[in-house]
Amino acid sequence: MHNLQDAQLIKNFSYINGSWHSSSSEFPVRNPANGEVITNVSNAGIAETELAIKSAKSALKMWSTKPANERAQLMRNWFNLLIQHQDDLGRILTLEQGKPFTESKGEIAYGAAFIEWFAEEGKRVYGDIIPGPSGDKRIVVIKQPVGVVASITPWNFPNAMIARKAAASLAAGCTFVVRPATQTPLSALAMAELAERAGIPAGVFNVVVGNDAKSMGKILTQHPDVSKFTFTGSTPVGKTLLSQCATSVKKVSMELGGNAPFIVFDDADIDEAVQGALVSKYRNAGQTCVCTNRIFVHTNVLEEFTDKLTIAVSSLTLGDGLSPNTDIGPMISHSAVEDVDKLVNDSIALGAKITLGGKKSALGEHFYQPSILSNVTNDMPIARNEIFGPVAPIIAFNTEEEVIQMANDTEYGLAAYFYSRDIGRVWRVSEALEYGMIGINEGIISNAAAPFGGVKESGNGREGSKYGLDDYLEIKYLCMGGL
Ligand code: ADP
Repeated sequence: MHNLQDAQLIKNFSYINGSWHSSSSEFPVRNPANGEVITNVSNAGIAETELAIKSAKSALKMWSTKPANERAQLMRNWFNLLIQHQDDLGRILTLEQGKPFTESKGEIAYGAAFIEWFAEEGKRVYGDIIPGPSGDKRIVVIKQPVGVVASITPWNFPNAMIARKAAASLAAGCTFVVRPATQTPLSALAMAELAERAGIPAGVFNVVVGNDAKSMGKILTQHPDVSKFTFTGSTPVGKTLLSQCATSVKKVSMELGGNAPFIVFDDADIDEAVQGALVSKYRNAGQTCVCTNRIFVHTNVLEEFTDKLTIAVSSLTLGDGLSPNTDIGPMISHSAVEDVDKLVNDSIALGAKITLGGKKSALGEHFYQPSILSNVTNDMPIARNEIFGPVAPIIAFNTEEEVIQMANDTEYGLAAYFYSRDIGRVWRVSEALEYGMIGINEGIISNAAAPFGGVKESGNGREGSKYGLDDYLEIKYLCMGGL
């Protein structure tokens, strides 16, 4: 089916406590490139979500007390299987999400890298011994898994957003329940199939697939057996879930929206900056939370940068992610296209100019033309909102001070990028930008060894790196007296 080498990777049921659960109703998963139904999946709800949490709770003692190197070995098996099935997993991902096949395969490798990295890092959960306030006491600090982790993940990275959370959870000794986005459950279920083949014990990794996000979200954020809730998605939904978590004071990680500035100073290598803008703006059709949202260009290099970017973007091919020439796939939904179109039109009404594209594509209702808008100001809707589409707004600036002020003038604080060859400026600007991650002469910043996360309304907590593991560990202080 669907030209997969291993047809068993398409699963239609939730994966709970090591077995596949059907429910009484089902819903279709559609290919955004053509609207065709890929398959129907069983529609889990409150009962299955509660069952998954119960299973994770039952498996917790067994998993958390396993030596870290045994957990690491099982995770390593999982990593190997994900890489071994990279083509099939990439294909499933493109079918349900739309991004070009090469990007999908890149996501599989990127997601798997977190599982490999955390499997190793889990062996290094060190404690501390601190001299006490009096001679007969020692302060001992140990780290323990937080417990059952529940998560809700988005459709833009159907594999990697789960891998990042599950990898840190499992390595720390936590058990895990995920509810993937309604649009993209198949990648999550394929991960479960491979987790099972890898020998990850029943109840450790559970996937509940259902289209009633609100009801399932209430259980995942409020169930007394869940110790930590971790979410990637939009800021408004994140705020709702955060307040739901407050009722039982859960530990939380929130990876929310962004409004990334991309600054091109007049001492930048312009060709490099164009390449950086291309990948950080247009990959995944602009639908990532770290995608460049506003391009600030110094007036001295404005014309050169705009011309070169326009040439580069003009050569991008829009199409079905499975066709080999495609650089940009469909957007996730028709309403996503409409939202982008409205931002563009509202900004044009306020004086923005179309340099390239600026319209819905004739390819179909899920496609938007790769676009560039010039003459944009920082107060236009296209600059205030997360675009989540293939449109680059260009804003001119004159001084470093002015551009830092404009870049920080947003409630978001996830990723920022800038291009400069001046070492003093590199430090000044890096320290002044109010963002969790800064790409300096670099448009792609995320990898398993680096702490991914935001400040301000872009969320809290970090994924990846040694800091990412800490988010799934509790510190326990042992006061050793009477020595
Ligand atoms: P996106 O724009 O990426 O769809 P959302 O924040 O709307 O961002 O969705 C991210 C995830 O949150 C998806 O899995 C979605 O189904 C889920 N979701 C959306 N609304 C709610 C809600 N009220 N409660 C729980 N989950 C939700």
